[in-house]
Amino acid sequence: MNDRLHTILARIAAAAEGRPVDLLAVSKTRSSEEVRALAACGQRAFGENYVQEAVPKQAALRDLALDWHLIGPLQSNKCREAAATFDWVETVDRPKLVPLLARYRDASAPPLNLLVQVNIDDEASKSGCRPEQIEALAASIAAEPRLRLRGLMAIPAPGDAERLRRAFRSMAAWFERLRGAHPAVDTLSMGMSDDFELAVAEGSTEVRIGTALFGPRPPKPATD
Ligand SMILES: *Cc1c(COP(=O)(O)O)cnc(C)c1O
Repeated sequence: MNDRLHTILARIAAAAEGRPVDLLAVSKTRSSEEVRALAACGQRAFGENYVQEAVPKQAALRDLALDWHLIGPLQSNKCREAAATFDWVETVDRPKLVPLLARYRDASAPPLNLLVQVNIDDEASKSGCRPEQIEALAASIAAEPRLRLRGLMAIPAPGDAERLRRAFRSMAAWFERLRGAHPAVDTLSMGMSDDFELAVAEGSTEVRIGTALFGPRPPKPATD
């Protein structure tokens, strides 16, 4: 088994104290060969930031049963392709995206899994909805048979451990509240290479890890 993968899984398990926590391997900027090598070690879920970068990798790896998560900002003109090629979209942050994703999800495919992205630090520059908007977005997703509401995602602003802990804790509270209204909700996606243990300690059910799994990222390729 891949050493980095082994180490990350052990660190997640230690922080989770027996609770199941999923690892999303963030494969942006990585080649399909690197994804294939990690898949050979048993990793199934991969995260990509750009639809354009993901599509050729997904095509090259079609022989493997992988789960693809879109974790980058979604423009409305990319909804058709995103709904056709991904299993999850973690970055639903405005009402407009919901009917588009529903319309373009093929009737023969399983429903598209969605997370509502929350701007937990209320940063003007960041994507994500305000916490007060979660319930309205969640209700519109839950009303679409081609979509499945799975939970929440957040990327807290960088900060010291106390600040991060407050952001993760507040996300966990919004998650519990959402679960009260939508019992099938099961996913709280938060935590990256530098802060995932803290996120798991505060209730994350899915960590998104790139650098700590694959090593430092090469220079940024083409974007959408
Ligand atoms: C790149 C990225 C990650 C992974 O970041 P690392 O620090 O490399 O682990 C996680 N989530 C999102 C949304 C990202 O864009």
